Amino acid sequence: MFGTPSGSLHITAEPLGLSEVKVLDVRTNLSAREITITVESTRKYILCRQCGEPTKTHGLGRKLRLRHLPMFGKETIIEIIPRRGRCEHCDGGSTTTEILDWYEG
Ligand SMILES: [Zn+2]
Repeated sequence: MFGTPSGSLHITAEPLGLSEVKVLDVRTNLSAREITITVESTRKYILCRQCGEPTKTHGLGRKLRLRHLPMFGKETIIEIIPRRGRCEHCDGGSTTTEILDWYEG
């Protein structure tokens, strides 16, 4: 699950219970007793929230910081920048911010 090859933690998404993401970066701040894990979605499509069709990529949303269960006795924060998609099927090109199963947007 983890090791300390270069003094940094290596953590994969599975033991975190996070589906459909990959871990990009893990930062620890020992004095702050906090681990920040940056992840990104591995989903292929963002589905329109109105019609359910795949949307076209339309930039990124605001970075979210989500509290995870503590790991190694430290506060654990998951950071993700949600992707946004614009629907070509709905009138007015409705935009959808991607939400994965394990957090609420
Ligand atoms: Zn749509």
